[in-house]
Amino acid sequence: MAHSTNDGREANGKTVLLVEDNLHNRRIFAGILKHYGYQVVEATNGVEAIEVLNSTRPDIILMDLSLPVKDGWEATREIKDMPALRDIPIVALTAHAMDGDEEKARAVGCDGYLAKPISPKQLVIEVDRFLKGH
Ligand code: MN
Repeated sequence: MAHSTNDGREANGKTVLLVEDNLHNRRIFAGILKHYGYQVVEATNGVEAIEVLNSTRPDIILMDLSLPVKDGWEATREIKDMPALRDIPIVALTAHAMDGDEEKARAVGCDGYLAKPISPKQLVIEVDRFLKGH
């Protein structure tokens, strides 16, 4: 029997690791993803994200690049260096996007890139593109 999310929409069987230090953004992003049936695991910095990956294999990682303790650039580099984890798509989320950030994010291994402000709908479209498109 399919279990359902908090608002009753049927779970789609996909897990998203959301790495975001800003509580407000985390609530909004997690809320919309759960609404669309995704299971969401949250981490607030790069160290926590890698700890989560020791025990959970998400289908996709949404990685804020600006994080305390260990930033998203470094965490992405480390994840993409691990043969067991490197196939998990990582979508970078960045505020204050600067020219060249997207190229830099792709250079450390990010598979997708969203510049803040990110609308909840845009976030879901990007996740769907990775998980349903192929
Ligand atoms: Mn941040």
